[in-house]
Amino acid sequence: MPAPATEQVQLGESLQRTLAAPILADRNLPPFRRSTRDGFAVTAESIATGSVTIIGTIRAGEIWPADREPLAANQAVAIMTGAPVPPGANSVLMSEHSVRNQNTLSLAPNRSLAAGENIVPEGAEALAGATLVPAGTRISAAEIALAAACGHITPVVYARPRVAILSTGDELVPPHSHPGAAQIRNSNAPALAAMISAHAALPIAQQILPDSLDAIVAALQSAHASDANLLLLSGGVSVGDYDLVEAALSQLNAEFFFTGVNMQPGRPVVFGRIPPSHTSPRTLYFFGLPGNPVSVHVCYLLFVAPFLAALSGGAAAPPRFALATLAEEIRVRPGTQKFLPAYFSFDFESPTARLVPWQGSGDLSANARANAYLALPPDCTTLPAGAVVRLLLR
Ligand code: AMP
Ligand code: MG
Repeated sequence: MPAPATEQVQLGESLQRTLAAPILADRNLPPFRRSTRDGFAVTAESIATGSVTIIGTIRAGEIWPADREPLAANQAVAIMTGAPVPPGANSVLMSEHSVRNQNTLSLAPNRSLAAGENIVPEGAEALAGATLVPAGTRISAAEIALAAACGHITPVVYARPRVAILSTGDELVPPHSHPGAAQIRNSNAPALAAMISAHAALPIAQQILPDSLDAIVAALQSAHASDANLLLLSGGVSVGDYDLVEAALSQLNAEFFFTGVNMQPGRPVVFGRIPPSHTSPRTLYFFGLPGNPVSVHVCYLLFVAPFLAALSGGAAAPPRFALATLAEEIRVRPGTQKFLPAYFSFDFESPTARLVPWQGSGDLSANARANAYLALPPDCTTLPAGAVVRLLLR
């Protein structure tokens, strides 16, 4: 895939964006020999053999003047965490390990101090010019901290993917309207918009389409002609008489990478791209997601999110799994790989998981009570409480 365009953004606006240029150390990190303790800068060898004299204090932000004599072996200075260790000293005795009598300092009983202790040498974390964060990294709070530490206040990032969301189904009405007896409100489009926004992608055009081949083809053509990079369709990819999405995609010469996955929910999911044509010079990637809301969520986590990371200029980001212990026995019918709505306790002591009771993949309410999906292999039938299971995290 071609690299996306790049832009510069304010650091505070860069969360979840993908770096297009590396973040380099603008100077050595730490920039000076940094004390990691509140205590006393000393010579380890001399405090080991007797007491030394405290001659002053260095606070964080203060520096030992360049024209001042280095600390002598029989001298100490009080020093604060984060302050530069003065020349002459080779270690920091932490306050808790010291005995101070006015200006006389010695080791507390049964304590020792090694040369280098409680000091991070200049440049030990990174040397000036070193790559701290490579291009292609998705920016989290940790990268924002590093960038700030190095003065990179306007990082270069890749353009946000622009995602068109088409919801197919004769029964659908927008969330703000009052549904008729057999109608339902479109919940997939807002869910997808929320999920892609969390990955810093931009939801553009959202549209409800009837189960009509002509209407779907027309909407595909206009999405293809737009500046969308990715098209997320929901509904209409199963084997029902009115499931027309694949046929419509075929009319635009779509290339299908896959047209189903042996899993449940989500089996009918399709993935591919619409190639450039005489009406559009662009390649438009698409996912045809099943209509059921739980299928949409599972397929998003397994397929769309990893692809979106690649579309954002990074590497494909694999779905995140965790191991947990089953809180109670489960019984399922064997046959397919399953991803069932589950609740993961995230406990410190005993991270456990249990299935959330559900009425199948249309059960929005069960999906909201879940915070993960229990991944069960095709041959699984019964698992006892205490079994170790794999969870797809969301
Ligand atoms: P389909 O994949 O079109 O066969 O739809 C499967 C189920 O998902 C049906 O019960 C649809 O009513 C429901 N569904 C389809 N699209 C949506 C949507 N956008 N929001 C909520 N439910 C939907
Ligand atoms: Mg449908």
